[in-house]
Amino acid sequence: MLRQALLVASRSGGVRKLVETAPLTRDVVHRFVAGESVDDALRATESLTGEGLLVTLDVLGEDTLDAGQAEATVKGYVELLDRLAGAGLGTRAEVSVKLTALGQAFDEDLALENARRICTAARQASTTVTLDMEDHTTVDSTLRILHELRRDFPDTGAVIQSYLRRAEEHCAELAYEGSRVRLCKGAYAAPEDVAFGSKDEVNKSYVRCMKVLMAGKGYPMLATHDPRLIDIAGALAVLNEREPESFEYQMLYGIRPQEQRRLAAQGAQMRVYVAYGQEWYGYFMRRLAERPANLGFFLRSLASK
Ligand code: FAD
Repeated sequence: MLRQALLVASRSGGVRKLVETAPLTRDVVHRFVAGESVDDALRATESLTGEGLLVTLDVLGEDTLDAGQAEATVKGYVELLDRLAGAGLGTRAEVSVKLTALGQAFDEDLALENARRICTAARQASTTVTLDMEDHTTVDSTLRILHELRRDFPDTGAVIQSYLRRAEEHCAELAYEGSRVRLCKGAYAAPEDVAFGSKDEVNKSYVRCMKVLMAGKGYPMLATHDPRLIDIAGALAVLNEREPESFEYQMLYGIRPQEQRRLAAQGAQMRVYVAYGQEWYGYFMRRLAERPANLGFFLRSLASK
């Protein structure tokens, strides 16, 4: 119930105003968001990669409804990628992109063209792009754009959300040689006919998807903080005789940082998803929805004001 309410609130302009103007300490948002500028993002990237972690960077923004805003997002990514290349970080840090920030909601061709420009800049910076998956209404369009992009940029990463009933089928389609696929549970509200309703069903689906990806020929990117699923991933790697460099774990910035370092110290590839920028509202609300303890932390900080 609480999760659903927070997810609905993540899309509400009214609640957004309330939260954005609340006496939020920077510390609360900065627990999940690396900062507002490219400099902040580079600082976080240098620090994480210095500790042996990999990074994927998200320039915050989503649900864009005008071409000018989408253009600004493309420029934000191109600037970021130039700076990553200049700092020699291209081999340790890639970027994650939300197609709704590139115009997907009103012009799929424009979103594809914008994504192509970001992929070109990523290639020049010796790195890659992963297309984040957003709410269930965007899945077909995102997969269409992915397939188009992969003609010229075969290393473009896909995302599958295990809460969707079609997740396993999509994993099977994407488990081919060279195919980079992030598997996550899914962070959006979705109706019962397209998504599993209970945590247990979502977790079981995650395991089924992981089995398909780990047994397949692609490059699985296992995005979860769930200790049980991380243990199963380790067992599947052994079962499928996968070398540590043939798959990676992924977690969000600020969540289970000790576990991130533990996995990296064991020789696993561990990538941290680092979001930055001024448009933190939707991203922040989804993090609150995932975990009541995060909400408690947020409310306590408001009460202490
Ligand atoms: P949860 O069910 O949230 O948590 C499971 C268990 O993990 C908890 O019981 C607890 O033991 C542990 N845990 C979780 N959080 C904490 C914490 N703060 N401290 C200590 N233990 C904790 N979603 C999308 O819809 N589209 C995307 O493109 C997308 N990309 C993502 C990329 C990355 C790298 C990651 C990590 C997540 C992404 N997500 C995305 C979000 C994802 O779908 C989930 O909403 C989010 O990861 C929470 O799910 P979980 O697997 O961690 O499990």
